[in-house]
Amino acid sequence: MYKTNAYAARSATEPLSPFEFERRDLTPHDVRIDILFCGVCHSDLHTARGEWGGTVYPNVPGHEIVGRVVEVGSEVSKFKVGQLAGVGCMVDSCRTCPSCQEGLEQYCEGSGFVGTYNGPDKHTGGVTYGGYSTQIVVDEAFTLHIPENLELAAVAPLLCAGITTYSPLRHWNIQPGQKVGIVGLGGLGHMGVKIAAALGAHVVLFTTSQSKVEDGKRLGAHEVVISKDPEQMAKHVNSFDYILNTVAASHDLDAFVTLLKRDGAMTLVGVPEHPHPSPSIGNLIFKRRSLTGSLIGGIAETQEMLDFCGKHGITSDIEMIRMDEIDTAYDRMVKSDVKYRFVIDMSSIKQ
Ligand code: NAP
Ligand code: ZN
Ligand code: ZN
Repeated sequence: MYKTNAYAARSATEPLSPFEFERRDLTPHDVRIDILFCGVCHSDLHTARGEWGGTVYPNVPGHEIVGRVVEVGSEVSKFKVGQLAGVGCMVDSCRTCPSCQEGLEQYCEGSGFVGTYNGPDKHTGGVTYGGYSTQIVVDEAFTLHIPENLELAAVAPLLCAGITTYSPLRHWNIQPGQKVGIVGLGGLGHMGVKIAAALGAHVVLFTTSQSKVEDGKRLGAHEVVISKDPEQMAKHVNSFDYILNTVAASHDLDAFVTLLKRDGAMTLVGVPEHPHPSPSIGNLIFKRRSLTGSLIGGIAETQEMLDFCGKHGITSDIEMIRMDEIDTAYDRMVKSDVKYRFVIDMSSIKQ
C-alpha cells in the first residue's frame, strides 16, 4: 500500500482540506503514477458540493490527471517506468458488455463505468479517490499516453474537457465548412472552440460574458455572439448544422434550438444542478431537429483525441493554482470567472 496525500471534501458545505489514504498494491496490470498536475472540472465542484446527490464523503475529486509512471505491474505492456501517463474520468468498467466491446466504456451496460472518483472501488470496497492527490494506481487499460510535444500542465484538461467535446464533434461527423456553435466559454467550451476549429468548422461561440469576446476569437471562433442579446441571436436563426452546449447551469434551450437548420442537432454535455425548462417540442418537430446528450468518451477515442491534439498543437489555456487555493477556484468557477481551466500544481501538496 502507498501512503498518499490528498485534498478531500468532508461534506457539501465545508472547504476541501488535507486528507491521507492508501493507494492499493499493484496488481499485474496496474501502473502507479506520480501525479504532477490535475485539472479542475466543474463536475468536481458539482460532486464535492453535493449538487448531484450521491457524493460519498470524504470525496477526493479530480479526473484530469497527468504525471509520470513510477512503477508497473508484472504484466504491464503499454507503459514503462519514467513515461508520461494520463488518467481521465474512468478507471474501470465491465469490459465485456456490447458498449465496452465497442470501446464505449463510458456507456458500460454491465456494472456501469467506474468513475475516477466517487465510483465503486472493487479493490477497496469503498469509493475511488481522484486526482487531487500525489499518486494513483490504475489499470493500464484505463491509462493514456501523453504526446511529448505539448506542455504537460496544459494537457491535463484534455483528459475530461478535451474528450467531452471531441467525442460529440466526431460522433456528429463535423466536416470542414459546417456551421458549428459552441455554447459557454468555460473549460469544456474553450476546448470545443479549439477542436471544432481544428476540424475545419465555421465556429460561432455563444457566451454570456462580454469580457470573453476577444478571447473567443483568439481561441479560434470565427464569430462570437452574446447569447443574452436577442438581436444578435436573431441573426442566426435556422443556420446551424450543429451546436454543442457546455453550459453548467439551467437555461432556456429554445434560444439555441431555433438557431438550428432543418435536421440540425444540439448536444448537451452540461449537467446542471437544476433542470432546464422543457424545450418547445414544436421547435424540434417542425424542422426535424435533434436534441441529444453525450458523456465523456471511450478510452480508445480519448487516446485518439490526445494524438489529434499532439498533431495540431492543441492544449488548454490554464491558470495554475496551489492545492490550498481550490475553494477560491471553485467560487470563481461558479461566477464563470475561469480562463479557461484551473490546473493544480501537485507539487504544492507535497510540500
Ligand atoms: P465551466 O468551466 O464552469 O464552464 C461553464 C460555462 O457555462 C461558463 O464559463 C459560462 O460561460 C457558461 N455559463 C455558466 N452559467 C451560465 C448561465 N447561467 N447561463 C448561461 N451560461 C452559463 O464548466 P465546465 O468544466 O466546462 O463544465 C461544464 C458542464 O459540463 C458542467 O455541468 C460539468 O459538470 C459538465 N460536464 C459534463 C461532462 C459529460 O461527459 N457530459 C463532462 C465534463 C463536464 P460564458 O461565460 O461564456 O457564458
Ligand atoms: Zn470532468
Ligand atoms: Zn461494460
